[in-house]
Amino acid sequence: MSSRTSHTVLVFLDPDYVNGRLADPEKPQLMATDLGATRGDGVFESMLAVAGHTRKIQAHLDRLARSAQALDLEIPGQDDWRRAVQTGVAAFRSDNPAPSPELDEAVVKLIVTRGVEGAAAPTCWVQVSPVAAAGRRQRETGIDVILLDRGYDSDAAERAPWLLLGAKTLSYAVNMAALRHAHKQGADDVIFTSSDGRVLEGPTSTVLLANVEKNDGGATVKRLVTPQLDSGILPGTSQGALFAAAKAAGWELGYGPLKPQDLVDADAVWLISSIRLLAPVNHIDGREIGTPALRKQLTAELNELFAGIE
Ligand code: PLP
Repeated sequence: MSSRTSHTVLVFLDPDYVNGRLADPEKPQLMATDLGATRGDGVFESMLAVAGHTRKIQAHLDRLARSAQALDLEIPGQDDWRRAVQTGVAAFRSDNPAPSPELDEAVVKLIVTRGVEGAAAPTCWVQVSPVAAAGRRQRETGIDVILLDRGYDSDAAERAPWLLLGAKTLSYAVNMAALRHAHKQGADDVIFTSSDGRVLEGPTSTVLLANVEKNDGGATVKRLVTPQLDSGILPGTSQGALFAAAKAAGWELGYGPLKPQDLVDADAVWLISSIRLLAPVNHIDGREIGTPALRKQLTAELNELFAGIE
């Protein structure tokens, strides 16, 4: 493996290998007739490993199971995934010694396809790869986003479950097209809205906003709000973990519904996800959100809470 130019490590879940089967990422590994390739038919998860520890792994394994269930896919048990992740992360760290403790991070993806056409078994593997520098930078610099209509109303998930709106499926071509559209407009990212004017999510992230107010007694009240989880969005594991930590630290919590104006009026807005973590939003459709000083202060506070999450 040391002769590879790629930094990526692949571990296939294979009944003959109890800890997973390491595979060469420079060699073809999938059949051309795999339904993941021909139809985007499958599910995935992306997690962050820090210093060899894969964060929030239980929440990700639970969401993988829910996504698989939405697609009627039978997948291996959580212990099989955990062992394969351990194999992959250990191999990645021995292949790619981190230049400093802050850079000892890796993206751990769990991928399931419906398998080869005509076969009864899914294809399952773990991919461990470096964190993109751009994502890391955006945690510091913040991002400019545009609002884009996703074309579904906020009841579509409930009315039409076959749209798989709350599942993390391999069919991310629409999400990637939205990001390219934003980049062409000079923006970094996207917040999707529903056709009935609700704030939904980013193509790869959850939306959060914060408001800071004084209550009648003069005390400062900090409130963290995210769109309703049943509006056809993917329930974020980062949002869930951060909300629990923020509650314990005295923040008030809220779950939409949110309109675009609520974002513009907020003291701070973030896109949050497992790999990029909290990316503060500087502008939405060209309008500045809050003030740089308050954005920075609230981001630092939430980063500290998030850093304590296992
Ligand atoms: N929403 C979508 C559509 C996503 O793809 C992701 C993550 O990739 C998220 C939200 C954030 O989820 P998590 O915090 O679990 O990474």
